[in-house]
Amino acid sequence: MNTTEVKAFGAKSSDADLEQLTINRREVKADDVEIDILYCGVCHSDIHTVRNDWGGSKYPVVPGHEIVGRVLSVGKNVSKFKEGQLVGVGCMVDSCQECDSCKDGLEQYCENGMVGTYNGADKHLGGHTYGGYSEKVIVDQKFVLNVPENLDAKAVAPLLCAGITTWSPLRNWNIKKGDKVGVIGLGGLGHMGIKFAHAIGAKVVMITTSPGKSEDAKKLGAYEVLISKDQEQMADHKASFDFLLNTVPVKHDLNPYIGLLKRDAAMVMVGAIEPLEFHGGGLIAGRKSLAGSLIGGIKETQEMLDFCGEHNIVSDIEMINMQNINEAYERVTSNDVKYRFVIDMQSLKN
Ligand code: NAP
Ligand code: ZN
Repeated sequence: MNTTEVKAFGAKSSDADLEQLTINRREVKADDVEIDILYCGVCHSDIHTVRNDWGGSKYPVVPGHEIVGRVLSVGKNVSKFKEGQLVGVGCMVDSCQECDSCKDGLEQYCENGMVGTYNGADKHLGGHTYGGYSEKVIVDQKFVLNVPENLDAKAVAPLLCAGITTWSPLRNWNIKKGDKVGVIGLGGLGHMGIKFAHAIGAKVVMITTSPGKSEDAKKLGAYEVLISKDQEQMADHKASFDFLLNTVPVKHDLNPYIGLLKRDAAMVMVGAIEPLEFHGGGLIAGRKSLAGSLIGGIKETQEMLDFCGEHNIVSDIEMINMQNINEAYERVTSNDVKYRFVIDMQSLKN
């Protein structure tokens, strides 16, 4: 197959800085959309993958799964997208399309394994997939999203992962007007969780380890802020939440949070992919659930983007150049980002 060389940024090992690389992109096939990448968000998962926190990373890792760009060209079977259109690509670029999960529009749970936008098995070129820290990408039309033109394209990028990852559990657990929802961790995911839960009409409490983020949490839509290290405050909220969305990226004690749930309520984990400890008694007394959720399907991602278009919702971002990515990673891991870094991909192209 013909390939095209493009500039990218990636890491050659788990302890290396990211640096400029050249990668190959496949030729545009009948069902493909060729996208000129304008912006790419920086997700904490990018850092976990580069650092091999979850094991199994393949190098070089070229991260990036919050992609916004314009269509450069399309294959002959593509009618939904046309040259110049503003589009997005999230965490997946392929799935089997045949299993029950794919048929239900939940490609992220593909029983034959979805293909991640980076570090997935590349069906076309062999090896592994390379993500959005690059000049362009070629993606099957089924995994390309339409981006509402009324939104600020830069601030749309994080919706493709942080947005859908918080939107999907709120919808799946049927969060509705008046529910008391706690969002744990005010980072990239957390700030979108507050915005969405607030837009749905829930009473949102920001549960944070950082008292300094209180004002921001309220501006984002929280009606109250709960400092998780303050035992008195935690006791005041005991057994009062209808739902908790836990975005903490590292191992932590779950028991205090389980204590916040009402009878029959659930805490959904989206971060901390590692062995966690909690006391079963905390769940048993109150028939509580501990659950997990992975991004969202393509159909619901489009619904989320359309909802954002209608309600004028985007992320709060800080723009960086591609060359500043290593410093941005340091800042994310030291909890110093408000609330998502987005790379201006023009800086790679210059
Ligand atoms: P982030 O921007 O770094 O935010 C994480 C937040 O968690 C921090 O801002 C901080 O908020 C809180 N936190 C950090 N360390 C903590 C600790 N030791 N104890 C308690 N709270 C702590 O990360 P993100 O991009 O939102 O991603 C969050 C996690 O979700 C990552 O692990 C990422 O890999 C994962 N993720 C999962 C999915 C999925 O599909 N399930 C998708 C995307 C990302 P406060 O200062 O407010 O406490
Ligand atoms: Zn992500």
